[in-house]
Amino acid sequence: MKLNVGDIVRLRKPHPCGNFKFKIMRTGMDFRIECMQCGHQTWITRVKLERNIKNILYSQEKTEDQ
Ligand SMILES: [Zn+2]
Repeated sequence: MKLNVGDIVRLRKPHPCGNFKFKIMRTGMDFRIECMQCGHQTWITRVKLERNIKNILYSQEKTEDQ
C-alpha cells in the first residue's frame, strides 16, 4: 500500500470522537495521523495502520499507477 504525507484515509475503527477520516502527517516505520474532526494526532505503526485502513479517500499520487 502506497501512503504519503497529506493522504486522507478512512479507517475501519472510528476515533473516539466518531470520525473515520484521518490525514497522514508523517510516514516511516511509524505513521503520525491526524483526526480530521477533532484534530487529535496520534502515532500508529505502519502495519497497524494498513490493517485499519478501509480505503484511501485522497492520495497525493493519484495519477501514478502503483
Ligand atoms: Zn477525533
